[in-house]
Amino acid sequence: MWVLDPEKVDRAIEIIRRYEAHHPTTEGGAHVAWTCPGCSEEVDEGFEICWNCHTPHAHETTP
Ligand SMILES: [Zn+2]
Repeated sequence: MWVLDPEKVDRAIEIIRRYEAHHPTTEGGAHVAWTCPGCSEEVDEGFEICWNCHTPHAHETTP
């Protein structure tokens, strides 16, 4: 039987919230539009560069 320890639930929720903060999800859609830093156009996530001005998508993760 699966017993939920309230303390562990709080911990799990915290982990999930941290995960979501770093991996934003959209409701009912796989694609997230990103806003081009160069021209402020909305670009579908499927594109790595802006369709308008060809500015590369600035990913949040930095090496
Ligand atoms: Zn652009």
